[in-house]
Formats: sequence, C-alpha cells, structure tokens
Amino acid sequence: MKGYAGKFLKVNLSDSTVRREEIPKDFPKRFLGGMGFASWVLYQELKHFDPLSPENKLIVAPGLLAATGIPTASKTVFISRSPLTRVFGRAVAGASFGFALKKAGYDLLIVEGKSVEPVVICIDDEKVEIEDANDLWGKNVREVAQTLKSRYDKASTAVIGPAGENLSLIADIDCEERQAARTGLGAVMGSKKLKGMVAKGTSKVEVADWDALRSVIVKWSKNLREHPASKLDIKYGTAEFYDWINRDKGVFPSRNWQQGYFHKSFDKLKEKELSKLDPYYWAPIYTVRNRPCPNCTKPCGRIVRITEGKYAGTELDGPEFETIYSLGGNLEIDDVEALCKLHLVCDLYGLDALSAGLTISWAMEAFEKGLLNKEDLDGVELQFGDVDATLEVLKAMALRKGKIGQLLADGVKAASERLGKGSEKFAIHSKGLELPAYDLRGMKGMALASAVSVRGGDHLTAGVYGTELVGKWWRFSGVNRFSAENKGFEVKIHQDLMAVYDILGVCKFSRHMFYVEAFPEMVKAVTGMNMDVSELLMIGERVYNIQRAFNAREGFGRKYDTLPYRVLTEPIPKGKSKGSYVKPKELERMLDDYYQARGWSEDGVPTEAKLVALGLPEIAEEIGAGH
Ligand code: SF4
Repeated sequence: MKGYAGKFLKVNLSDSTVRREEIPKDFPKRFLGGMGFASWVLYQELKHFDPLSPENKLIVAPGLLAATGIPTASKTVFISRSPLTRVFGRAVAGASFGFALKKAGYDLLIVEGKSVEPVVICIDDEKVEIEDANDLWGKNVREVAQTLKSRYDKASTAVIGPAGENLSLIADIDCEERQAARTGLGAVMGSKKLKGMVAKGTSKVEVADWDALRSVIVKWSKNLREHPASKLDIKYGTAEFYDWINRDKGVFPSRNWQQGYFHKSFDKLKEKELSKLDPYYWAPIYTVRNRPCPNCTKPCGRIVRITEGKYAGTELDGPEFETIYSLGGNLEIDDVEALCKLHLVCDLYGLDALSAGLTISWAMEAFEKGLLNKEDLDGVELQFGDVDATLEVLKAMALRKGKIGQLLADGVKAASERLGKGSEKFAIHSKGLELPAYDLRGMKGMALASAVSVRGGDHLTAGVYGTELVGKWWRFSGVNRFSAENKGFEVKIHQDLMAVYDILGVCKFSRHMFYVEAFPEMVKAVTGMNMDVSELLMIGERVYNIQRAFNAREGFGRKYDTLPYRVLTEPIPKGKSKGSYVKPKELERMLDDYYQARGWSEDGVPTEAKLVALGLPEIAEEIGAGH
C-alpha cells in the first residue's frame, strides 16, 4: 500500500509487550488514514472504560500526508477517551513526532495498559523499548524534551509536564513546544505513568507517484507563498485579527464572558494607537524568528523573547490568538509581557492554556461575587487583572497543590460542580471543554458547532468561525452570523471537511488557501487512490459518525449538546454584537436542523439507515437500532 507504512504499533505498558499488526486491507478506502484509522480502532477497542484506567488507550495518528513534503501537512492527532469530557477526545499538534512514527514504519501508535514506574516509550525504527523515566518525573516539558534529545540523537518527542503527572484533567501533551492541548490527554499519559514518547525513523515514505507528488508540492507551495493572507500570517501569526474581532465584530469574550470585547485593551487608546495585545504592536518588538511546524511554508508560529523588565528571560513559542483571549482579555490582563509569562508557565507545566485560563476566570468571578474567599484560595486574592495571583494559581493547578489546586486542577466544569452555589451558571464550557475565543452569542453557527462538537466546545472541529464572521467561504455565501436559520447544514459540512483535514494531517490554517479541491491530487500522488471531492467528504462524514457513535454508546446524546447558561441567557452588553445571545428555543431549533442535516434521530444519535448508508453496518447494529 503506497503512502502507508502498513503497520500499527501496539505498546502495552502493563506487561511491557510490543506488537505489530498489519493494517486491515479495507482501511485505506474506508477511513483513508491517520485519525480515520484511529477513530475506528478506538470505537472497536474501547467500550465503557474509565478514561484514567489502564483499559483506556492513547492512539497517536500521523496524518496520511505526513512526511511527504506536502506543505502544511504537519499534524499529528492524539485520540483517547477524554478524562475531561468523558467523550471522544482529540488533540492535534504540528509535530515531527508523527513524521518520525511514520518513517519508523507505523501508521498508528496505540498505547495500552499502565506502568507501575514512570517510563518512556522509545521507538527507533524497528527497535521499540520501554525505558525507565524515574529521573524525568517532576520535570517540566522543556527539561524532559532536552534530556530525551540528548539521549536519543535526532529523535522527536511527545512528553507531559507536572500537570499530566498529577492527573490534572486539563493537562496537555507537549510536542517540542507545540501542544496537543485539548481534552486533557496529558492526564491519560500521566495515568499510564508515561512521561514521554521518543521516535526516530529513517525510512522514506513510499509514495505512488514521485513525479506527481513533486508537482503537487511545487504547485501548492507557490499558491501558499503567494496568497495575500500568508504574508500576514507569517508576520503577525494567528492573532492578526485581534482588533477586527474585538472592535469590528464585538465577539472577543472577555472578563469570563461578561463582555463581548476587551474594553480595557481599547477604551483608553488614542487615535491610531494600537492595543498592547495586538500583534501589530508586539510582534515587531519581541519576535526572534518564525517557527514553522514541520513542512510548513507559511509559518504562523514565532519565538518571542522578553529581554527587559519583570519578565526578562521569558522565551516561548507564542503567544497565539487563543492564549491572548484565555490568559489575556478573559482575565483582564492587557500586558503582553505578563501574558507571555503566563503562557510559558502553562506550556512548561503542561497545562492546556485555554482551559486553564477559563478555569481561572471562573474563579476570579466567583471571588468577585463572594462565592470564594481568600481562605478557599490558600490566601490568594484572585482578582481580575492580577498577574502574580494568576501565576501562583497556575502552578498550584499543575501541581494539584493546596485547596486552590484541588479546586481548579480539573477544569471549570469540575470546579464549578465542587463549589456549587450557582457558580455553574458562569462556568464557560460545553461538554466540559472550556470554550475558545469566539463569543458564541454573536455567532449562531459557531454556537451550534460548539454545542454539538464531538469533543466538546471548540473552534476546530467545525472551523466555522471564519465563515460566520466574513459571511462567506468555500461553498457558502450570504451567511448571517446573528441568524439561527440554516445553520444545520453549514455546521455539518464544515465538520465533515475538517475531519478530512485531520485525517490527512493538513493544517486548518491553510484552509483559505486550499479547499478540499486540492486534496484529490495529493491523495492520488501519495497513495495512488482516485478519490474525488465527494468521496473524501463522505469519508469525513463516516469518520465523524464513528466519533459520534462512540459518544452515543457512552450515553451522550442531545441533552449534552448544549451551551453555557451565560450564552443562553445574557445578551452581549456592549459593542458591535450588543444585544445578541442564543435563546434556548433557538438552540433547540438549530439542533433539530442539524440532526436532520446529519440524518440522525431527534436525540442526536446516528440512525441505522444513516450508518448503513455510510458503510458502517457493524456500528448500525450496535448504535443505530431503534433510531
Ligand atoms: S500555518 Fe502555523 S499552525 Fe499551520 S502548519 Fe504552519 S506554522 Fe503550523
């Protein structure tokens, strides 16, 4: 099978066994690769197990196009049952770890069981070993990666920090300072006492047609390079639209979603003055160099360094649009140097910076409302805008230290349930996953996408925010973000398309440069398979249905497709989206519309007929019957 390594690698940490299995022959046509294979394996092999038990599995899936040279085909997908949401967990990083896995001869790595002592899995082509990692336990991700790289020359790493070790349910997996951040999969590694994974592969991925691949790479590299948006991406990164989303659109949630744009960042600016959180201000001052994911020719990532002042010595890959929201506007912090420090602490300790920020902003609001006091917080006065207090709290969360660490280490849903007193009403999450940087009250399609997302509230499962904000993209035009009409089909198609991106491992930040129309020639050059756009979208839909069926089997249906109380009851108070919110009846209508577009039951469960039509008779029998 050209384009595939041909094998899955299974490493069991309970009995220290290593097995290799051939990819079943029907897999490429049915599931295409990467996340498609992983979703099927997870569905088949994982039923009703506690996410932190030895029975849970962590699956690492390089994208199908990884290590082929195709520009921005850089992603590695990590999949498991999420300990944070208890549904299908997915976290994605631009990581050379997936490239190394594939070049070592594996299309998937499946980690099973649980070690007694801390260990590292070391993959060096055919040689796979489980090695002692007692000396690495307790170390931050930068220290661990550096040590592993000194021991295993030219290896790629995926490691956890103290947060993962302490089973914080918002712990991430660090891939050389690119994070597979969401859904708490760092805690799955921690539960297995797996401090890290190291991979080195020396084979070349065999492709179907080298000449065709070369011309695909030349064509799309040129397209990416010359696209006008690329220049801005390279110069300012993912936060390039900071001002636009705040002032022009009014959907940058701030102060724990009490505001729809970050007032403090703008209200006192003189004419033409830039907000200090705007990369047009800070990128030229602090950027040391761009940092691409592997095979990316339009690097939005950047290394920034602070050389003076209180945070001198801070150097990190960031900040990103999402962290400028979660650790900036959301906490009312508008000092970019402080923000870099907070971002770095999250990265080094292995916390999902988005989830951590939303959990702290909830605690700040609870403190402000008198629902938490200094005693509950180990003496910390947790006020909006307080950087030092936030730093202290972040570390306590990662270490699960003191009352404050115990309260906040597991994300905002758990924290609000522990506190009670009505604090659940301002806990900003969907299915337990803290929401990203788009105020759903002023973006109804994005609100629906967040409610129904298989992994909980996020922006990348559907990637519909750009379409909503601009009003058009790809096959969509005339999209009205304030209207709840016609959102079901819009969200469904975006999800299917984004599933194709994850399966191929292509960066979603290139979606304005190549749409799905670019993919058939890439897939053909790499695998030899002729698949047109509709077949690719069908595979995206099939894989999405497997993930939804996984959730349905665990008991998650319509009731869980919901939004935070604040989004459903409190209109945006000021700014360009003033007055907008998602009325509960509107959400119900959008859910009906969406389930209908999907061919699911009113309860949001894939029906037997739909699953059979998608070529999933095995799942139809188990899940679809009666629907
Ligand atoms: S655009 Fe940014 S996130 Fe995407 S592959 Fe390039 S560097 Fe990575």
